[in-house]
Amino acid sequence: MQFNLAWLERWSGQFDAASRLADDALKKMDLDRDPEGWSELLVIKSVCAYSLGELSLADEILGESLDVLGPAAHSRAGIEPLTVLANMCAYYNDYDKAQDKLNDAMAIADELGLVFERGHILQTLSRAELRNDKIEKAVAAGRTCLQQSLASRNAVNLPYAYEVLGAALVEAGHLQEARECAQKGLVAAQFSQDHRVACHLYYVLGLSYFEEQRFDEARADLENGLLNAAGADYHHWTRNFYLKLSHTHEALEEHRTALGYLNAYVELQKKLVAEETERASNDFRNRLEFRLAHSKADYERELRTKTEALNKELREVNETLRALNAQIEHNALHDALTGIGNRRMMDRYFEMVQETFPPGTRISAILIDLDRFKSINDQDGHSIGDLVIRTVALRLSALMDESEALIRMGGDEFLILSADRTGLDDLTCLLEEVIRDVNEPMSFKGAQQKSVGASAGAAVWEIGPLLEYELLRAADEAMYEAKKSGRNRYCLHSSVYRSITQDAS
Ligand code: GH3
Ligand code: MG
Repeated sequence: MQFNLAWLERWSGQFDAASRLADDALKKMDLDRDPEGWSELLVIKSVCAYSLGELSLADEILGESLDVLGPAAHSRAGIEPLTVLANMCAYYNDYDKAQDKLNDAMAIADELGLVFERGHILQTLSRAELRNDKIEKAVAAGRTCLQQSLASRNAVNLPYAYEVLGAALVEAGHLQEARECAQKGLVAAQFSQDHRVACHLYYVLGLSYFEEQRFDEARADLENGLLNAAGADYHHWTRNFYLKLSHTHEALEEHRTALGYLNAYVELQKKLVAEETERASNDFRNRLEFRLAHSKADYERELRTKTEALNKELREVNETLRALNAQIEHNALHDALTGIGNRRMMDRYFEMVQETFPPGTRISAILIDLDRFKSINDQDGHSIGDLVIRTVALRLSALMDESEALIRMGGDEFLILSADRTGLDDLTCLLEEVIRDVNEPMSFKGAQQKSVGASAGAAVWEIGPLLEYELLRAADEAMYEAKKSGRNRYCLHSSVYRSITQDAS
């Protein structure tokens, strides 16, 4: 919205307002998302600065607008800044540079088949040629421009095409044709918001009559032009009309009027020079402000990018930290050799059941110790001993439910804790599976087949303040009993039967 308003203001010659609107729109825009829109707004700002006579500021802004576009400068978006830049180069009398920019712009327009843009470029080219006194070239460019505008029915460009061709023709001395051009241009300009083009067209008319010494007609058109220029506050044009009208009245031998216009011309010229000086200082100040704002914007952008990168790094570090913490937590509760729970896990299990289950709930424990495990270490080495421990852990964990805990108490001793299997049948069934599965032969690479036996003791205890102590003591007693009575078997602590008696009663 702001964007369109800025354009409208620009076209209607309200350059200050247009520039402010462009600034507002820039504040709401994200450069990274819409570099083309950003560049276009800068072009509006630049044209406004240019029209206000702040030429170096305009130049600076245009450079920025092309920078912003980057590689996109070679697309449709690049045409406008290139054309405006060419206009300014011509104004500075740097015709080679103007020509270069227009050639670049034309190459893009040709490649993309952009007829509207071609019209605009040719118009600028014709103006530049005329400034450079290349009158025939200016006429040629003006003619092509007009042909194209007519062929493509480009109503926007049409008055300008007539304007540049008319201006070139009058300089070339083709007065009749120049006049016809200017007259058609005035008709076309009725639909344009730009009074400046009307001023120029009246000037061409006036000049063509003047050159033919048809001073009355010249005077009429110059007066029309003057009305237009004064009405729209176009002081430069007003000044041109004053001077030409003075010459015309001089030729008509109306010396007093001629003198009046000459005085008006001198007064206005003085005012314009004063304004020019003020503008030059405005230009200087505004250019500095623009630079400052831009370096600030650049700095903020850089800061944003750096902050984003830092945040990303921080997120990654946090992620690593979380993973490390999880690893530490896991290591704290698990046995390094087998990966099953350790004694701290056992403590957690007891805490959990104390907190979760009501007092009186029964918990069973099966303590398992491998038989004559030392001899495996002695005969086959410690590492085979390790493999045996790991295999046993794996086999035991295959027998467990999710709610149960399997703990390596240390050495060759394992513990199973359960709140689900506390009855005699369940327990004996599990104990038989334990003895059977541990006894299954084991094969390891580079070693003879191994088998190991296990002695197990089971106990059951109710949840209460001494649960852990009593349950482990009872299971240990039963396990010791199994060892004592010949190994590779299980024994049940009396607590198991006690709970059956309770169940029965
Ligand atoms: P018993 O039938 O009476 O249990 O005889 P045992 O040889 O199994 O003797 P005990 O259970 O008292 O000793 C267990 C041995 O396990 C003691 C130690 O040398 C060995 N050991 C302890 N931790 C490890 C380990 O992490 N890896 C290996 N390979 N051996 C271990
Ligand atoms: Mg043992």
